Amino acid sequence: MSLVVAKFGGTSVANAERVMSVAKRLVERKRAGDQVVAVVSAMGKTTDELIELADSVNPNPPAREMDILLSTGEMVSMSILAMAIESLGEHALSLNGRQVGIVTDSTHGRASIREVRADRIREALSEDRIVIVAGFQGIDASGDLTTLGRGGSDTTAVAIASGIKADICEIYTDVDGVFTADPRIVPHAQKIDEISYEEMLEMAATGAGVLQKRCVEFARNFGVVVHCRSSFTDEPGTIVKELDSHMEKAIVSGVTHDLSEAKFTIRDVPDSVGVAAELFNAMATANLAVDMIIQNVADNGHADISFTTPKSDLDKSRAVVAKVVEDLGAREFIVDEDVAKVSIIGAGMKVNSGVAAKMFSALADAGINISMISTSDIRTSVVIPADKAIEAVLCLHTAFGLDGESVFQETQLSAEELADKAKKGR
Ligand code: ASP
Ligand code: MG
Repeated sequence: MSLVVAKFGGTSVANAERVMSVAKRLVERKRAGDQVVAVVSAMGKTTDELIELADSVNPNPPAREMDILLSTGEMVSMSILAMAIESLGEHALSLNGRQVGIVTDSTHGRASIREVRADRIREALSEDRIVIVAGFQGIDASGDLTTLGRGGSDTTAVAIASGIKADICEIYTDVDGVFTADPRIVPHAQKIDEISYEEMLEMAATGAGVLQKRCVEFARNFGVVVHCRSSFTDEPGTIVKELDSHMEKAIVSGVTHDLSEAKFTIRDVPDSVGVAAELFNAMATANLAVDMIIQNVADNGHADISFTTPKSDLDKSRAVVAKVVEDLGAREFIVDEDVAKVSIIGAGMKVNSGVAAKMFSALADAGINISMISTSDIRTSVVIPADKAIEAVLCLHTAFGLDGESVFQETQLSAEELADKAKKGR
């Protein structure tokens, strides 16, 4: 008998029929002898619709009220799923964030989980029930509802798995697992059977959309084994866990791309002490994330500084940077929205030299110009023109021997479609 946490995303519970098939899966699992806790997201596009609804009455809604509104989405799916399970002859109990005791800090809209109380879930399991928990939500110390940020149900699932010491946390989604590259642009991408937390973290941070970075961080910190798999098949997906670093493995495990960032360049910043501190403190104070940073060699007492930051906050970052440019007496700033970050990730990079050189050569051979570079011990990322993103991912996938034999059947995205998705966030 194992204790299983199974998380189902919005698409997996998008309508009554799909809820019913999730219910069947859970019932089968329980009848096979496992103890089952399901974590659910809001049905289909519910969260987006609720956000639009709020926006139509107040473009700047109070964060506390927004959390109360958004938390209703998951409560609909948890109760409907409980009803579906009961109709199949098993007992279920749905619990929202407050009822479970998912305690978070008070950062409305992107709260962090502090504690998961396990008693209520354990009690229901001992009564032979299938337990269903609303993803994405918790309560803060004063009892107010909070939400964990978009896509936060994955984090709920991992936190619950850690709180009740589950044997495994299964994340059911609309793709078959984690791939060596996005199968929508690389027809020869392969499903990865097992991947280490650290590699998965880098993949998630650089554009692999399948698991949220925060969820992987949580899993790593608490040693939760995650199985990311499709809710439409019984095929095994990708297991994310601690992997023996001495094991022989590919130098590069995956190639990711991210079109969600824009590149800022500030021209002719005075080359003096404290300039970078002033710029990036201003960004940090405004809660704006900064990714890659480059400062070139100073010439005539002036230097250029470039960095990337999410396009989703572009208006805010423009305003912050404009103010800093004025304060520092820099010449001007330029924003380039047509950039892509392409990364190669692999634990094998730690012990193999020349990996970055091979990456740059492959890009050079394809005639792709690199404008920024950053590295960690298991990742190398470059910023290139957005319209070269697909070509870059394809050529790196081939250069590092990742092409599989089977051809992925899914619709292939064109450069235009990719750019369009990027405009919308991913
Ligand atoms: N329903 C929330 C969202 O759409 C949480 C989740 O799906 O994980 O972001
Ligand atoms: Mg979702």
